[in-house]
Amino acid sequence: MFKYFNNLKIKQNSDNSADKQFVSCEALNSRLVFFGKKIAFCSNGNPAQNRAYPIIYDNINPNNFEKTFDINKIINFIRTNRKNLENGIIPASCEGCNNLDSYHYHSDITNLKNFIEYIQFSDWGLCNSKCIYCNAWTNTKQLPSGEYTTKNAEKDTYLILPIIKQLVNNEVITKDTTIDFAGGEPTLYCQFEEALKYFIKFGIKNILVFSNIIKYSPIIAEGIKKGIITLIVSVDAGTKEVHQKVKGVESYDIVYKNLKQYVLCEKNKGQVESKYVIVPEINDSIEEISFWIDKSKETGINKLILNLDNRVFEHGTPNIELVKKIKTLTDFFIEKTSKLNIENALYSNIKFINQIK
Ligand code: SF4
Repeated sequence: MFKYFNNLKIKQNSDNSADKQFVSCEALNSRLVFFGKKIAFCSNGNPAQNRAYPIIYDNINPNNFEKTFDINKIINFIRTNRKNLENGIIPASCEGCNNLDSYHYHSDITNLKNFIEYIQFSDWGLCNSKCIYCNAWTNTKQLPSGEYTTKNAEKDTYLILPIIKQLVNNEVITKDTTIDFAGGEPTLYCQFEEALKYFIKFGIKNILVFSNIIKYSPIIAEGIKKGIITLIVSVDAGTKEVHQKVKGVESYDIVYKNLKQYVLCEKNKGQVESKYVIVPEINDSIEEISFWIDKSKETGINKLILNLDNRVFEHGTPNIELVKKIKTLTDFFIEKTSKLNIENALYSNIKFINQIK
């Protein structure tokens, strides 16, 4: 930890109560991310520091973590970190992150209700796709029965339901907390359905599921019908040929078939979102992005997201030619989706690139 800056801005309200503003980000101390092997405050890491993470738990043992998980360690960590932020101290791993901004919070760190706004379950060990930009699938093997398991048949990750129940009982999770299931492939995770059912029954209002939708999930469809679940699918291509190059498996037809089915379940427009991760040299052309937007429109999708392959940042900031190209693709994406009246969004890697002068 280090002192980030000394000049904490204190805004004086008209009622004389101090409204503290301090440096933080949307994730830091407002989110918890349960990865397979660690628990951190954010899912993306710091692009300015080779994706460093503000970590709470590290080197988790998947065999028994749910038994050793200590809710008080989480609660104390959150409180200490919040105090530090209010004193101008941020975790060293966050230094230089483009997501840092000036925020103000209620300072009631005794009451945890609505303190953590967002909880993500990410990085599960199994996946039935082979995306070029991801390595979650590299330890997966398919059995003759069609089931998926780890290559060495070891447990892929810990059980999340006992942990979720502790978080709910301690009001770290409330009905207003956003729940997010991300990859590997959440529909392959052994407690995915059970956890979704638990959250829906508990009354969570907002659940995000990031799935490749090769496996159709009736519980996801039910959550979409109720207006609770938003489904985000990385399609990454407009044409079958490029889709196969990016995904590494033949899944174009099943993905678009399932997308149509999920769109038909929408209670609210835009609950099914299609995402495009730009992979340099593979799908980084205006033509492919244009095909993707047209195909999405034809499928009835009302929200599209642009992102960029994480590997671009492996050796620091990417070269200026790539930066220019990504900016051109971003401009095209925004212009075309706006013309077609499709909602658009940029994920953090793309935002980071577009901030480079
Ligand atoms: S400042 Fe950056 S690295 Fe730190 S929690 Fe926020 S997004 Fe993550």
